[in-house]
Parts: sequence; structure tokens; C-alpha cells
Amino acid sequence: MKDNIQSIEKRALDDMKAVESLDQLDSLEVKYLGRKGLVTSFLRNISRLPAQERPEAGKQANFVKLKLEDAFRSLRERVVSMGSSQSQGIDVTLPGRYIPRGTLHPVTKISREITGIFSRLGFEIVEGPEVETDYYNFEALNIPRYHPARDMQDTFYIAENIVLRTHTSPTQPRIMEKQPPPVRIVAPGKVYRCDSDLTHTPMFHQIEGLMVDRDVSFGDLKGTLTAFVHEFFDEDISLRFRPSFFPFTEPSAEVDVQCVMCRGRGCRVCSGSGWLEVLGSGMVHPAVFENVGYDTGQYTGFAFGMGIERLAMLKYGIDDLRKFFENDMRFLGQF
Ligand SMILES: [Zn+2]
Repeated sequence: MKDNIQSIEKRALDDMKAVESLDQLDSLEVKYLGRKGLVTSFLRNISRLPAQERPEAGKQANFVKLKLEDAFRSLRERVVSMGSSQSQGIDVTLPGRYIPRGTLHPVTKISREITGIFSRLGFEIVEGPEVETDYYNFEALNIPRYHPARDMQDTFYIAENIVLRTHTSPTQPRIMEKQPPPVRIVAPGKVYRCDSDLTHTPMFHQIEGLMVDRDVSFGDLKGTLTAFVHEFFDEDISLRFRPSFFPFTEPSAEVDVQCVMCRGRGCRVCSGSGWLEVLGSGMVHPAVFENVGYDTGQYTGFAFGMGIERLAMLKYGIDDLRKFFENDMRFLGQF
């Protein structure tokens, strides 16, 4: 019976699209909302339902009734107000063309949400180029030509010293070369790696963060990232900092959050561990500062990076990374 009231509603709204005159409108309103109308009869018949189904059915039906009354009222206004210009030869009572409204891509939504949180914490949003020189992508970040860390990344080379950036980190030296401390930036954007399977796509999105000033400590890093995780997921989620290695930070830490699916009890998503890795971070390596001419005796800083799709998957419970890039409207329309 619940389906029934919804199909009545749908039919009414469909019928209304074809209304071209006040006469048609009047008879349509009688058909649905009149004393013997479909909605009215439906309401009357609710008393025949089993007692436990009545409240819900009544609620649904009254909701539909109000909605249709509203729709008829505004359609009437439109038909009346436009009727006067009919004499000029334009049939303004014809229903307008339906233009479907798009939604933001989940990657865009999450990216804006993340940069929004950091901008409220005082970070500026900047962008760097996707086609990057070998120097900014590797060397300036303390990853020299023969450093084993280069094996960690399978890189798309455009020319000998030109690459599609493998991370958003090159934005760090680019910004620091241009301005003296203090620096407080987040840099969202596309990154590229030769990799494609269930959890990897050749292009994906990252957000990089950097803060440099006098007396910036590991405590500032922890405080900033804790504030971010609490605002992005929720206040009650636990997180932990795990020692790690990145060539451009020292010390380095990976940040895990309590699994958002099972709340730490252990499930398929967290492989039973109860924790999920969400970002990499660390104190900026002095070699990176030397490359951009910052005085390592005066300034310290922290940097962090995270994958946007990964955070979107955790927040929305999406299990296949490739869904983001297949342009399936049924998937994208949900956001
Ligand atoms: Zn879990």
C-alpha cells in the first residue's frame, strides 16, 4: 500500500507535466485531490489496514497529499500568470524543458571538504603543475637520481627530465623557493603512477600540506593532524602515529585511524587489525630546506600527504577505487 501512494504521486506529477490549460488543471486536481480523488480514497482506506501499519501509511499519504497540493498551487499560478501572453502567439502554458541537475564528483566534494578544514586552520590553498621536472619531483625532495626510494614509484616520463608528477610534494619546494617563512599551505591535485588494479589507478588525487616557521615541532604536527582527523571523520575516533620513512621528512610517521567500518573490532576493510592508514607525515628534512635556501638553524616545519580517493572510500564506504573514474551516473548521482 505504501508503494501504491508513491505510484499515485508519481502519476500525478507526470500528468501535471502535460497540463496546458486551466480546465485540464481543474479536472486533474479533482482526479487526485477531489472528494472521490485517488489520494482522498487512499486516505479513507487506511482504516482497513492492520493496526500496526496504519500510522506509517497515514504519515506517507498525508505527506504526499501536502506535496501534491503544493504542486497544484504553483502550477495554477504559472498557468494563470502566463495565460495573458497567449494572445501573442506563444504557448507559454507548455511545460518547460526538464534540465537534469548535476552533482559534484565525490573526489571534488572530499577535496573541498579537506581543504576547507585546513583553510579554517589557517592554511592557504595552492596548486602546482601536473607535468613536472625531475628536479622538483625527486631531487629537490631529497630523492637523488640513484636513491633507492625511486624504486618505490613507477613514473611516467614525458621526456628525459620531465615527468607526470608522482605525488603532490613538488609543490613544497616550488612554494618555498618563492617565499620566505612562515609557510602554511595545502596543495590538492592529480598525481600519476604506472599502476592499475583494484586499489590503484594510473591517475589519482592527493593533498599535500606544509607548515614552516620558527619553533614548529612534532607536537604541532600531531595537533594539526589530530584536529583534521577529528573534524573529517568524527570527534570520537582514535588515531595513532606510527614511525615510517620518507626521503623528504625526518622523523617520519604514518597516521592510522581507528577503522571507521568496525570501530576497531576488526573487519575485512581493515584486514582484522582495527586500524586504517590514512596519511603520511613528518618533520621536513633539513636537506629539503637547504635546496630552497631556508636557514635550517632558524626554521623547522612539518609536511603531510594523503590520498583523496582513499579518504572518500572510507567516508562513503566505497570498496572499488575504479568506480570513481568509470563515470557511471548511477554511482555519481548518489553524492
Ligand atoms: Zn575494520
